[in-house]
Amino acid sequence: MPSSQHSNFTEFMEGVEKRNPGQTEFIQAVREVSQDIFDYIEDKPEYHEAQIMRRIAEPDRVVSFRVCWEDDDHNIRVERGWRVQNNNAIGPYKGGIRFHSSVTESVLKFLAFEQTFKNSLTGLPLGGGKGGSNFNPRGKSDSEIMRFCQSFMTELYRHIGPDIDVPAGDIGVGGREIGYMFGQYKRITGRWEGVLTGKAVEYGGSEMRPEATGYGAIYFLRCMLAHQDNDIEGKTAVISGAGNVATHAAEMMTQLGGKVLTLSDSDGFVHDPDGIDQEKIDWVKRLKNERGGRISEYADEFSNATFHEGERPWNVECDVALPCATENELNEDEAKALVDNGCIAVVEGANMPTTLDGIKVFKDADILYAPGKAANAGGVAVSGLEMSQNAERISWNKEKLGDMLTELMQDIHSKCAEHGDVGDGKVDYVKGANIAGFKKVADAMLAFGVV
Ligand code: NDP
Repeated sequence: MPSSQHSNFTEFMEGVEKRNPGQTEFIQAVREVSQDIFDYIEDKPEYHEAQIMRRIAEPDRVVSFRVCWEDDDHNIRVERGWRVQNNNAIGPYKGGIRFHSSVTESVLKFLAFEQTFKNSLTGLPLGGGKGGSNFNPRGKSDSEIMRFCQSFMTELYRHIGPDIDVPAGDIGVGGREIGYMFGQYKRITGRWEGVLTGKAVEYGGSEMRPEATGYGAIYFLRCMLAHQDNDIEGKTAVISGAGNVATHAAEMMTQLGGKVLTLSDSDGFVHDPDGIDQEKIDWVKRLKNERGGRISEYADEFSNATFHEGERPWNVECDVALPCATENELNEDEAKALVDNGCIAVVEGANMPTTLDGIKVFKDADILYAPGKAANAGGVAVSGLEMSQNAERISWNKEKLGDMLTELMQDIHSKCAEHGDVGDGKVDYVKGANIAGFKKVADAMLAFGVV
């Protein structure tokens, strides 16, 4: 970065830190993106004059609200809910809802900020938002989940709409929770409209939505490898998480001839040297989606598998690594271990799973590294297609949507390759994704003037 740009960037980040005290995740996400953007806009005064980056790094609004619900023992419980509407320059706000005890305003602001760039990269007319609650769904009964979701929507409904803001699922929010929230929205407003995505196919959901994020990440990996005349066949993969993204990434990795060695949850990881094949993946899906079980049970079920309590899987030797659980789950030392063990590609199914120091290790080692905003964009892309189907009152079949997803991921890869070309056929995917995502949003904002 030239020195004048460096001082611009430093000043900008000081402002971000001052305005968002203690919001470490949000500041981390803004820093990661802005470094590349300040380089890119060095000779583009129009973006500086219009203060575009400063405006994108200040959410349009953050709505925070109380969510009261009654547990099965008739205790009244109080949680906090949020919706962060970051930017709607190119389309209605769009982004998931997360229910997890670790949710804070900073986490949701970082996710909404990232989502703005990711949604732009898909090429679809989608702005960026994110929401959620510190409610912890673990161990709650089905009726408790229903009452919480209904109470959450009783406040959220006034802030969303098919042309305003269209939430989806994320950690702790799957098909069941979307169903309860959609039902409550419909009950309050009396309207059936595509106000949430990730719905079941029976009431307006899209085929391929549950699979889209994990499958899309593997399609992106395939594009990166193909760019280097390589492919997935025979490659070993280490995956973290055991939820929607992780299990579907594992499924597509296996289908394309790869071998998946690990899955994890917040208690630890399982290592299966025989490979986690489709039958075992189906078992994990039932464990997590139907029984609410822990990944440790996998080691009791399948011989040769071992459970590593309290550990993450990054020390296991592999060709590719796919962090698919949560933010900051892969640090500098773990990144070094992956590189030292011969890992050639890291593809982020989760949002911001690698720390800034970890990213630097991958960049310095010159291995393939796909940031979440590019690699996991398949989910929101199919959500965008769900919105189109709802608006037109039609539904496309699985085959068509599968083709559309494959094409979308190829298109995102091409945009990254175009804007992240660093010569010798090499691509800086972080830079490529940041710049391609930024450009579309920034140009729309310029067109609107000062608003
Ligand atoms: P799920 O709730 O289905 O699964 C999350 C998985 O990650 C679980 O195995 C969970 O374990 C684990 N996990 C969550 N928090 C932690 C933690 N603090 N430490 C260790 N493990 C943790 O969520 P998804 O699969 O939907 O989401 C995973 C990631 O992918 C998130 O970063 C999300 O934002 C991102 N993402 C999801 C998309 C989607 O379409 N669903 C789209 C794009 C990105 P446990 O059960 O123990 O909590």
